[in-house]
Amino acid sequence: MRVYTHPACLRHDAGPGHPESPARLRAVLDAIDAAGLPGIERIEAPPASRMQLLRAHSPAHIARVLDVPVDGQRRIDADTAMNAHSAEAALRAAGAVCAAVDAVIDGREKRAFCAVRPPGHHATRDESMGFCLFNSAAVGAMHAIGVHRLERVAVVDFDVHHGNGTQDIVWDEPRVFYLSSHQHAIYPGTGQRDERGSRGNVLNAPLREGSDGEVMRRVYADRLLPALDDFRPQLLIISAGFDAHRLDPLAGLNFAADDYAWLTRELVVIANRHAGSRIVSTLEGGYSLTALRESTVAHLRALLELP
Ligand SMILES: [Zn+2]
Repeated sequence: MRVYTHPACLRHDAGPGHPESPARLRAVLDAIDAAGLPGIERIEAPPASRMQLLRAHSPAHIARVLDVPVDGQRRIDADTAMNAHSAEAALRAAGAVCAAVDAVIDGREKRAFCAVRPPGHHATRDESMGFCLFNSAAVGAMHAIGVHRLERVAVVDFDVHHGNGTQDIVWDEPRVFYLSSHQHAIYPGTGQRDERGSRGNVLNAPLREGSDGEVMRRVYADRLLPALDDFRPQLLIISAGFDAHRLDPLAGLNFAADDYAWLTRELVVIANRHAGSRIVSTLEGGYSLTALRESTVAHLRALLELP
């Protein structure tokens, strides 16, 4: 399985004390190495092209991220900032997902994981927000339908925050089905059950504060997985945020690493049934380094179909 990453993703820094720190990605990469998983091949992520970005973002947004020189630090909102390496990191993060989509559709690999930052799922068509600059998962999904002519791409987002940006970008795009579980009523405030996309192509499952893995498994088994199965995705993209873990300092759900393994195995079953086994997963949030390490390894073991 390919693991896409790039050194620029370690150089992007939103400032001292920011929870979305380079240490997160170092922890993820070190944990993958230390786990000694079989068949892992680390690949340098290429930059996304303007054409790839334009399928998900407005020209004005792309220009604001790429074409404004950053000397020191540039603040975008209360949570989001760029340094001199951030534009390159965001380009490589989105490029990683596009390259991974190419690899799984060309049949070179069945699965890929993008160990990248900044995360992407809060970036809307027109705006950077919530630590996110470009929406890597959405760029990858639009690349799969735009270039590879897929007709059914699913984006499953289990980050503790709702992926308002992904929802915004695919709202009117029936070829992309966006499914999200997240903690109810925290940042960014979207993701209510009645937000369904203009073509019924969005499914939100807000979870009450304190919900644990048992609640999550029931919600997926009852609502999300049957809907995903009915959609018959030709490709699965996972927005893999690990901030619903009970150790996470930013949110209030109580998942454990084993819950991510369970959910990933369920997604593997559906990918094997409909999608020629193709799954591209990309790192979103997750702010406890311990939780990140153990959850990433549990997620990758399940993607590799290891016991
Ligand atoms: Zn998050």
